[in-house]
Amino acid sequence: MTTPTTCRRCGRCCLQGGPALHRADLPLIGDGGIPLERLITIRRGELADNPVAGGVRATRVELVKIAGSGRDWRCCYYDEAARGCRIYGRRPQACEVLQCWDTAAILALVETDVLSRLDIVAADDPLRPLIMNHERACPCPDLERLGSGISQLTEGERTALQDLVARDLTFRDRAVRRLGLSLGLELFAFGRPVFQLLQPLGLGIRMTSRGPELQWP
Ligand code: SF4
Ligand code: SF4
Repeated sequence: MTTPTTCRRCGRCCLQGGPALHRADLPLIGDGGIPLERLITIRRGELADNPVAGGVRATRVELVKIAGSGRDWRCCYYDEAARGCRIYGRRPQACEVLQCWDTAAILALVETDVLSRLDIVAADDPLRPLIMNHERACPCPDLERLGSGISQLTEGERTALQDLVARDLTFRDRAVRRLGLSLGLELFAFGRPVFQLLQPLGLGIRMTSRGPELQWP
């Protein structure tokens, strides 16, 4: 098989997930065409594929990405029938530079000059204080450490994690009610719930009359 030197529009890159946004993409957001509901935040410390490191790592910076399609991570702007991008003329920087046959330019963008939620949300947006308060009250746990030793957690550490999961869900619930947030806006504002970040590590969750309860592996 010969190595391609031009894009065959196979869509494989778009099926693997939407891009992280960079400073150059700021004009595309909001009235520029990409609504906040189409974005998802990967908070600092979440586990994500890092092509520079060659595997899944905790992110060193916050990333705001184009969201998946709902079923999976495939970019929500990918049109499978037409095998093309619905926003091709205004696609983000990472999509513009991506050449799967020569990854130097895309690798240079990894966790570099990225946009954060606070770069995007206006100073007077009511979401702004909520984002900051949520980050203070419910930071992403140390997932790399948990992944390498969940069975060694002390009783106190388990309780702290349980409390974090419950606090995160309560915070979201209140914010959603107060501002009438759609699921898309919630995922932009607060990223994925903490319990979802724990699921790949083998932790489940059960809703009880006392609130959410973690199921330990
Ligand atoms: S950049 Fe590569 S993977 Fe992406 S659509 Fe083009 S040929 Fe396919
Ligand atoms: S924005 Fe367009 S080019 Fe970029 S990943 Fe999504 S569908 Fe593909």
